[in-house]
Parts: sequence; structure tokens; C-alpha cells
Amino acid sequence: MARPIKGAAANEAFVVRGYYSTFMRMPTFGLAEWKQMVDCMKEDGANFLILWTAGAFRSKRFPITWKYNAEHKNVEHDYARELIEYAHTKQIRVVLGFTPFAYDGANQYPLEHPELKATQKNGQPAKLWGMHAWGYNLCPAREASQSFMRDYVREMFFEFYPNADGLLIESSDYAVCHCSRCGEKYFEHEFAFVRAISDEVWRAKSDATILVYPRYFSARKVQGFDVAGAAQNFDPRWSLSFTPHSAPIDEELAKEARSCLYWNDALTIGTPARIREGARIARERGMTGYITSCEPFSCIDGPPGSNKPRQKPFHFEWLRDGEMPLNELLVRVNRVAYREYTRNPGLSEGVFREALGREVFGDAVSARNIGDLLFLQDCWFNGADWFTPALFLRPAELKRSAGPEKLFAEKRQNYLIRVERLREMVKTYGGSTVVSEREMARIASLVVRKWDSEINRN
Ligand SMILES: [Zn+2]
Repeated sequence: MARPIKGAAANEAFVVRGYYSTFMRMPTFGLAEWKQMVDCMKEDGANFLILWTAGAFRSKRFPITWKYNAEHKNVEHDYARELIEYAHTKQIRVVLGFTPFAYDGANQYPLEHPELKATQKNGQPAKLWGMHAWGYNLCPAREASQSFMRDYVREMFFEFYPNADGLLIESSDYAVCHCSRCGEKYFEHEFAFVRAISDEVWRAKSDATILVYPRYFSARKVQGFDVAGAAQNFDPRWSLSFTPHSAPIDEELAKEARSCLYWNDALTIGTPARIREGARIARERGMTGYITSCEPFSCIDGPPGSNKPRQKPFHFEWLRDGEMPLNELLVRVNRVAYREYTRNPGLSEGVFREALGREVFGDAVSARNIGDLLFLQDCWFNGADWFTPALFLRPAELKRSAGPEKLFAEKRQNYLIRVERLREMVKTYGGSTVVSEREMARIASLVVRKWDSEINRN
């Protein structure tokens, strides 16, 4: 990756474009579906893919790291090396994602080594927590935690996927260790691992892209934790990853980096407006690239034995398990937005709508169908969360979630106005000869049915 373009014009394309994909939380997709997803990414102008791999490969040294994910297609068939090869034929570089001492894969190790659990602020051992992979974060001051992390990532990168182009070392956004050895030195301990694994990777592959978080290079309190950063020296071979929720952009530090990426979650749980916002922030702050989350979860939310249903990618409840979701109409809207705004972050709303309209409706494009499509997309994605659909799609739960009676009544009234617009769309597009319009009618009708059954119950 190249250095950031200083003062790049508002209408210049980003040098690095692509998606952040939590591979480990998509157990149902095999190599065929992943190749299709890579094809979609290529269509979206991507040249970079973060494949979050920890917890999703069949580690020989640490089988506990994937036991919870034994049904993951890559744990079963180990196709990720071939997938990386395939991405390379599309000029898409792939880095492997993981979190040091926490999150999927790593957080399983304390199930067998409880003595390595981190300590909470109240002095108690770490609580069982996770997203799909439920476990415990580790204390990085313990040598056994450090050697586990090094051996696990070595195995993933050198033995399993040596054709990958580098690593995303995604420092945790939920946990640190407050034991007497960590405390204010937590990030120094974490950094010791980051430094060691980076050196090993660069010795083997000098041009490897290694993305790290800014918290190791400043003593400022780290966002989300009441703990100081590490104030270590920055090696200009590192690339930097910035996020709105856990790693605010540091423009001075970014100047020293090989490249710097800004991330947000807009493609998965947002709208074109939030994708535009991500691209504009990245451009205004001098980033090399804007990466968005492409995370069609198909896992089961934990803890183990939760008996929750398997997640439907993007909450598209009509998909069968394992079905490739990226060509579904409503996520295509976000994909087009990503393609257009990373090509030109300064793009006007009108030009974006034209591009979207051409793509989705061809010659049948009109101001009306584009407006309705964006409205429908907003109904589905705006307010969605990782494991729960937007509240608007869950009318039965509205009363419980909306707060005081007055707020509930107001919210319900606004939602009912939306329902009427959807009902109108069912009438307008139900008999259309345009495939995308009929799809809009189908989805609108699905939402209307949810509301009608709720209205009839009351
Ligand atoms: Zn500790």
C-alpha cells in the first residue's frame, strides 16, 4: 500500500478500498460462496480484504480455539488458502484479522487455562463474554498468554495461510486486564506481543501489510478504557487502523504510517448516507483508505447452549442457510454506495442516485422507484444491530423497547406512517415487469404482514 495522498482532492478515489469481513462468524459459507463474495467485492471496486480468521481455522496446536466453531466450513475443509489465491487473481490483497488476548479464537484458550484469565476492574476474574465465540480475555502480563498468542498467530500465518498479505492486529474494544501487573501498563504488555509478531512476519515477508491500532504510540487514555496508552516508538512499516468507536484518527501519527485506514460499520448495519459519511471523514482526515464492515453473520449468538436461532445474513430472513447474500437488493444499495463514494467521496446525492438507479432498474429508472428503494433500504438497515434486526421490523417488541408510554405512542405513530408507504409500494410494484421493483414489493409486503399481524393482535 502507498503512503496517504496528502491533500487528495475530494473527488479522487481512495488508494485502498475494501471490506472488513468477520469470516469466523460466517460458518455456513463454503469456498464457492466465498468466491462469489470476492467477485462481488471486485465489482464494488475493492482491492483489499480483511479476513478475520482467528477461531475459523483448524489449529493443530490449539484445537480449543475452534471447538466452538467446529461446524465452520473452513474448519471442516480448510479452503482459506485457496480463497486468498482466488482473491489475488482479482487483484484483491488479503490480510488475516485477529485480536490479541481477546475475541474469537484467543478467548477460548482460558477455557483450558483458567489461570490466564484477565482481571476485571473490581478485582474479579474476567466474565464469560463474546459474540458467537464466548470465552475470557487473557492477561498479557503472563508469559504463557504471550507464548500462546505468538504460537497461535504464527501457526495461522506461517503454516496455514502463508499466501496472505499480512495481518490486522485488532486491539480489543471491550476488554483490558486490571491485574496488579497490568493496570496502567496493560498496553505495554499487549504491545510486546504486537512488536514480536510484526518482526517475525516482516522477517519472512518484508512487504507484509500489518495494521495496528494507534493506542500503542501515545500515553493518552485509550477511548473506552480508563487506561493509558503505551507511548512506544512507531515503526513506519506499520499501517494504522482507525475506528469511530475505539480508535480516533490521529493525523500526526498517520503521517508516519505506511498507510492508514478508516473503518465504520455502515455497509452491514447502515445506509448510503453513513457510507458517504465514512468516506468523507476518511478523505478529510488524509486517510489512504476507507474500509467498511461486510459482515453477513450466519453464526448462532452465544453463550453456548443459548438455543438461539442461526443468524440470517443482514437479517434477510428469506435466505436459506449458506446462501450467498451479497446480491440481495437491499445490500446492493449499500454496495453501490460504497463503490461510488470510494471512487469519489465528494459525489453529490443526485449523481449517487443516478448511479444506483441505472444499476438497479436499468431503463426503467425513475425518481419514484429510486426514492422508494432508498426508503425501503432505510426501513431494513437503519437501526439494525449485529444480532438484532431494526426495531421497525420487530413490531411485537416495540412496546417493550420504546420506553415511556408517550414515547412509545409517538414512535408507533411514525412507524405506522412508514407501514402505509410500504403498503402503497406493494400496490405500485407488485405486478411490475421490472425484477427489482417486484423484489421491492415482496420485501415491503413482508414488513407490512408483520405489522398487520401485530395490529390485529391488539
Ligand atoms: Zn494482567
